[in-house]
Amino acid sequence: MALSFQKAKNLIKALKKKGYESYIVGGAVRDFIMKKEPIDIDITTKAKPTDVMRHFNSVPTGLKYGTVTVEFEDSQFEITTFRLDGPTKDFRHPDSVIYSDNVKDDVLRRDFTINGLLMDENERIYDHVGGLEDIKHEVIRTIGNPYDRFNEDALRILRALYFQSKLGFRIDEETKQAMKDSRFLIKEISRERVFNELIKTLKGPYLKLALETMIETQIDEVLPGLKNGINYISKLDKLPFVDPFFVVSFILNQGIVPEYWPFSNYHKNMYQKAVILSMKTKDFITPHDLYEYGLEISILANKANTFLGKSRYTENDIENAYQKLPIKSELDLALTSQEIMTYYNKKPGLWLGKLKKALVNDVLSKKVKNEKAALLKHLESMEV
Ligand code: ATP
Ligand code: MG
Repeated sequence: MALSFQKAKNLIKALKKKGYESYIVGGAVRDFIMKKEPIDIDITTKAKPTDVMRHFNSVPTGLKYGTVTVEFEDSQFEITTFRLDGPTKDFRHPDSVIYSDNVKDDVLRRDFTINGLLMDENERIYDHVGGLEDIKHEVIRTIGNPYDRFNEDALRILRALYFQSKLGFRIDEETKQAMKDSRFLIKEISRERVFNELIKTLKGPYLKLALETMIETQIDEVLPGLKNGINYISKLDKLPFVDPFFVVSFILNQGIVPEYWPFSNYHKNMYQKAVILSMKTKDFITPHDLYEYGLEISILANKANTFLGKSRYTENDIENAYQKLPIKSELDLALTSQEIMTYYNKKPGLWLGKLKKALVNDVLSKKVKNEKAALLKHLESMEV
């Protein structure tokens, strides 16, 4: 097993030497049993954060939740004190953290049985929640009553979908029914949290299963602007990855990119432009489009149209067509502003920008070659 597991076990040993009961917990134990590489390794301990900080090189990264990040053997580990979660008001954050002396409390506050396992430094597994059986049978099931657990924290509804997309497990019927019945709680949690979990879900190898569950549970209806996309994409054999997933979805959402999603400006602009380009009814995709939208957006729009069965081009075709453009930017014009002004004997003004645009268009339409002599001659036929 990987080096990081060995280090985590050494860290547990070190904590125990100081007298604090400690375990590896959560996703890392699940991944260990499934012989997968964990994304991160969490440790749960009886030691209070102040104790951990006293003994180890650490940063209080989540003190509100009893979490400190420890630097140990050149790796970082999140160490959280055994705790019980208090009741929640905002469906996401526990209002208070109550520490516990009993590791079982800490396990019972966790989301799913597959994430509720403990492992010690000898790789012995402690299972208080039936997680081993559920991993064996590939089932995602909440720890405790799913309605209560989703009421405490509605993000867990989306986390169930994320784990399905990541692991390919089925979701236990009762848990699934509760996801459906509790789906409106998703509106109560912050859009950043929703977005974060959605992105993780879209990257999973079993996304198709998660999309099917979204439809079955009607969660597709509480994810703004994605319903038609989820329904269309769930029927495809090959699924679009994140960017084309959004573009296909927004095309099927009447071309609207909902304000709800906290995309970066870069992504929002990219999606909006790709949607417009993809939805062009005539001549997808012209040299003028390639010039105007650039290569990245053109490739994305073409990908979306391919998934929608509306493009006959490969990515290579788009790339080649772009490389063959006679001109990729106004700066590439073989005639400078100075030369144009001298030709007309005029001062700079709005006319100049307009003229250059017209020249670029004529070069793209192959009406004139992008060569100085040809362009100068072409000016004779142009209106200023
Ligand atoms: P991943 O492979 O994505 O890291 P993970 O299971 O490790 O999956 P994390 O988000 O890293 O998930 O969280 C670590 C652990 O913390 C989980 O395994 C689970 O036990 C617990 N946990 C995380 N989020 C919640 C939540 N919203 N409610 C209850 N328990 C949670
Ligand atoms: Mg993790």
